[in-house]
Amino acid sequence: MLGAIVGDIVGSRFEFSCQPEDGSYCEFTMPPETGFEFLSSDCFFTDDTVLTVAICQALTETGGNPASLPRRVVELFCEYGSRYPLAGYGTRFDEWLHNPHRKPYMSHGNGAGMRVSGCAYAAETLEEALLLSDLVTGVTHNHPEGMLGARAVTATTFLARQGKSKEEIRRYIVENFYPLDFTIGEIQNDYWKGRGLGTCGNSIPQALQAFFESTDFESAIRLAVGLGGDTDTLGAMVGAPAGAYYGVPDETAEKVETYLTEDLRKAIAGFESSFSL
Ligand SMILES: [Mg+2]
Repeated sequence: MLGAIVGDIVGSRFEFSCQPEDGSYCEFTMPPETGFEFLSSDCFFTDDTVLTVAICQALTETGGNPASLPRRVVELFCEYGSRYPLAGYGTRFDEWLHNPHRKPYMSHGNGAGMRVSGCAYAAETLEEALLLSDLVTGVTHNHPEGMLGARAVTATTFLARQGKSKEEIRRYIVENFYPLDFTIGEIQNDYWKGRGLGTCGNSIPQALQAFFESTDFESAIRLAVGLGGDTDTLGAMVGAPAGAYYGVPDETAEKVETYLTEDLRKAIAGFESSFSL
């Protein structure tokens, strides 16, 4: 879960880094230079961190009880949303936050995948992790692709945390979620020019493939963020399984704390102590 926060913060400064010369709006983010500084002074936390922490707090408070978890997630999304109104939420999520009815809106945006990693730590079995993923995702991203994407990130993170090998985890993901029939090298040059990079189907397979090709925690995040596109969210979605598999290096964990606010740090600490991380 801390891995997702590191990935978000590393990717934050590259989002929307494409600025056409004519000054027009550009939805793409160009890939950062190879060998970019990992945690620079320009980095910051975004909605990916805020909503990851909100879900962790909901899991802490409810113990993952299916009867109360979804409602608490909605309440905490609203609380955190008003505490951090400019964290960079997607347009539709922002509308949902400000709509008193707050009904799920069939989203398949990659918001489903970037915020869900706490479920992998709050569960004792894969089935339980997937159930928690469904409960926290269905409040907004109830499109089948949204639910599937969140499950894929949760499952990869859970199995990594269980000490499964990358080969075993990859096989499970290919059999149940995405074919992963490409390498990061093959898509490196053109990925960022594509469309719909903020959807689950066009970003979660890429983030997971970066994890499977990585050699350590940092290289996983570099491979995903280095694709460009929705860089902070790619970072969060690769950072979750990478943190579970390799562990977040102490130095990185200490440094990333300096980007967070006191209440975010407190909620993370509460989650870690209630689930003995
Ligand atoms: Mg973001």
